[in-house]
Amino acid sequence: MKRHFVSDAQCGLCGAEVEDVDHILRRFPNSLLVWRQLVRADKMLEFMSCDIKSWIKLNLTQPHRFAIDIADWDLMFGGVCWFIWLRRNDLVFNAGHEEEVRQPVLDRARRWLALAVAAQGAADALQHLPSQGGRELVSWSPPPHGWVKLNTDAARVDQNGYMSCGGLARDEHGSWMVGFGKFIG
Ligand SMILES: [Zn+2]
Repeated sequence: MKRHFVSDAQCGLCGAEVEDVDHILRRFPNSLLVWRQLVRADKMLEFMSCDIKSWIKLNLTQPHRFAIDIADWDLMFGGVCWFIWLRRNDLVFNAGHEEEVRQPVLDRARRWLALAVAAQGAADALQHLPSQGGRELVSWSPPPHGWVKLNTDAARVDQNGYMSCGGLARDEHGSWMVGFGKFIG
């Protein structure tokens, strides 16, 4: 019996013809609902119509361009993409049964953003501690903008006692960055 009747290029969730990154992160109906709450109404057309590479680059580098709340938009954008991806995987592979992933994408992204910002603050504070016995407590270099910063945040967190959120950020964004590098090129 043939159970998987959709073609490889078709979205198994909404039936759209092409299931690619653009569809999953931006055009999938549930993804679009999340973006509508975060993107200025007068910018929604450009947000939805620019090509996918520009979409990622613009969101990571120009927070003023699309976001309603521009504070840490690069982090929030990345977090939303990540939780959309997790949610979709849960729907596709676990029929949406994974308890943790069932929470709304936006809630998860906002909680994650708060942890990431707190971690950044702790890292910044540590930066200004005096060294002990001539040995630096931490080796720190200012992070580049965007996803690399995210990863650095996560690495810092363990050393600062934010173990749980550090583990969360590091695990998830370690794997995300691999995929992400492919798009930015
Ligand atoms: Zn779909």
